[in-house]
Amino acid sequence: MVSFEGQVAIVTGAGQGLGRSHAMALAERGAKVVVNDLGGARDGTGSSSTAAESVVGEIEALGGEAMADGADVTDRDAVRQMVDAALDRWGRIDILINNAGILRDKSFQNMTLDDFELVVAVHLLGTANCTHTVWGHMRDRGYGRILVTSSSSGLYGNFGQANYGAAKMGVVGLMNTLRAEGAKYDIRVNALAPVAHTRMTDELLPEEAKDLLRPEEVTPGVLYLVSADAPNGVILAAGAGGYAATRIYETAGIWLPPGERTPEAIASRFDEVLDPEGQQELKAGGEQTMKFLGRAMSASEMDG
Ligand code: NAD
Repeated sequence: MVSFEGQVAIVTGAGQGLGRSHAMALAERGAKVVVNDLGGARDGTGSSSTAAESVVGEIEALGGEAMADGADVTDRDAVRQMVDAALDRWGRIDILINNAGILRDKSFQNMTLDDFELVVAVHLLGTANCTHTVWGHMRDRGYGRILVTSSSSGLYGNFGQANYGAAKMGVVGLMNTLRAEGAKYDIRVNALAPVAHTRMTDELLPEEAKDLLRPEEVTPGVLYLVSADAPNGVILAAGAGGYAATRIYETAGIWLPPGERTPEAIASRFDEVLDPEGQQELKAGGEQTMKFLGRAMSASEMDG
């Protein structure tokens, strides 16, 4: 039984959509929840406290405990105040779900660098800001569960989303290092690649798909990723009742002796470079160094 009784969670961008669903489900299973939301438009303009307050109202109506917070996740002082307010009221923070997000979709040619920076600021830097602000507390307590929200647009690409895709792959890079740095303190960091019908995807989805893609179908995966028994460093893809893991593999590749390291040699053996046979999921950057060095060293031993 996954329970959050006695725990405190912060969910960013929880005034609607996926964040609202995560916040409600956490509260239903006993967590006290900070419902954060800036309450702006889909493109990140404007702000309002109504969305966060109304989700708090919904949680309280079901007998749960929650507080509304209107911090912009990119604002360091506002996020510090949000974390301090949660600590003052409830004394602990067990879970952080980085979910807040905006879109500024355009083909790269037509995208301004301001559109690029704002989207990266909210998704990637906002995630880093919130995570950094709770990190010390979680380390001191020896417990933390952190979720970053990625996207298939980052993992695989999507026309018109260069800014969003870069930010969404960025949070995976953040997770890959934090899963190692947090492990000793029982801080586990996982990523979600959701698909759901929300304001963000309303115009993109066919009508008949919308009922199948409720945010509530994604949330059970999230609850597992922030539970006591959570894995560490997993990318969970979820939507419409499907739950799958996304992994990054590196092929075994080829090794070329000195003197043969030419672009022509690589081109002529590129099928072998791409060959999935023997590919591996590396768990740290250093494993790649060891793989290549190991091959170079054993080749030079054989020569010697
Ligand atoms: P949504 O627009 O319904 O909700 C996002 C919420 O984040 C909004 O309520 C918004 O006010 C809030 N927000 C935006 N900027 C903020 C800021 N600076 N500070 C605080 N709050 C802010 O969208 P959603 O579909 O529920 O998206 C939730 C997350 O899931 C996002 O990170 C999104 O990129 C990601 N995602 C969604 C889908 C999908 O299919 N819906 C797919 C992949 C990834």
